[in-house]
Amino acid sequence: MDINKYERDLKEELKLLTEELKSLGQINPNNPNDWITKGNEETNADSDHSDPNDNADDQEEFGERNAITSDLEIRFNNVKKALQKIEGGIYGKCEVCEELIEEERLNANPAAPTCIKHMNS
Ligand SMILES: [Zn+2]
Repeated sequence: MDINKYERDLKEELKLLTEELKSLGQINPNNPNDWITKGNEETNADSDHSDPNDNADDQEEFGERNAITSDLEIRFNNVKKALQKIEGGIYGKCEVCEELIEEERLNANPAAPTCIKHMNS
């Protein structure tokens, strides 16, 4: 397993993800693993009760951006975790069964936290 190659790819991806996330929101000052989408003046709990015609477009647009931010945030945290594992010398082990993750899986996704068998768990 060529860890240096994965580390390079992961660092590159972390940089890109950070830039994308910065364009959509900002890091939560209280939690470096959490990103807050810009324009979140209303809480999600309120949006269910608001007038559907009131700022519907804004809400929809915010919802879309928020969904993208969430996806990127998951990816961002997986990449960060993978880099921490490289530092800790435990990179490439499945989080479920602790077997080595298949190289084909790591080539497709260097941040994969599990082997192919456990990828949906
Ligand atoms: Zn596994």
